[in-house]
Formats: sequence, C-alpha cells, structure tokens
Amino acid sequence: MALRPEVRGVEVDAQTRCIHYHSMLDIIAIKMACCNVYYACKDCHELLAGHVIEVWPSSERDAPAVLCGACGHEMTIREYMQSGHLCPRCGAGFNPGCRNHYHFYFASEDTLTSTGGS
Ligand SMILES: [Zn+2]
Ligand SMILES: [Zn+2]
Ligand SMILES: [Zn+2]
Repeated sequence: MALRPEVRGVEVDAQTRCIHYHSMLDIIAIKMACCNVYYACKDCHELLAGHVIEVWPSSERDAPAVLCGACGHEMTIREYMQSGHLCPRCGAGFNPGCRNHYHFYFASEDTLTSTGGS
C-alpha cells in the first residue's frame, strides 16, 4: 500500500473518520491551508492545532488538499468538488452533506468578492 500523508484528528480511524464525523461516508480528510496538515475535520483542527483555521482561497482550486480515506488518493479541491461524491480512483462514496461544509474549508467564488478585506 502506498504511503499516505499523516492525518491528524481525534480518534481518527484507518479511513480518516473522526470522533465528530464517523458515518460510512465520512472518509475524507482535508489539508488545512493554514498549516498544510491533513485533518479529519475542522473540529479536530480546532481542538488540536492551536490556531485559527484558514480556508483555501478560490484561486487554489488546483491544490491537492483532499484525501480519500478509503484508498489514500489525493485530490485537488477542484477534483473533489467535481467528483460527484465518488472517489475518482477507488469509487468509494463520499458524504454528499459535506457540500454544506465547503465554506469551512474552501472559500467560494462569491465570498472572495464580498468579503474583500485588505
Ligand atoms: Zn492549521
Ligand atoms: Zn473531527
Ligand atoms: Zn479512494
């Protein structure tokens, strides 16, 4: 089996489920933009990282930042969003409900223009 990146989290299992998200389909881990470390979920990051989460800017959609916990395949954010909730390599199903959590990890095209900031 290929070497997988380390996935941090609370009670992470072999398919990157954690204490917060542990259904059959909760098998992806996300590399955090702030520290470049894979975490099982944002709540695990909050508990363990000791710093505030940063979302991936929408210009970084081609960054490999999503890991399939079933086979260890690394996807870019774009690949993941276009995957139809199936791993492009092993066909494992991902939780479609994660779509509702995209904004915790990935800035959407609109938030970039609306938040502005500096
Ligand atoms: Zn971090
Ligand atoms: Zn978690
Ligand atoms: Zn897979």
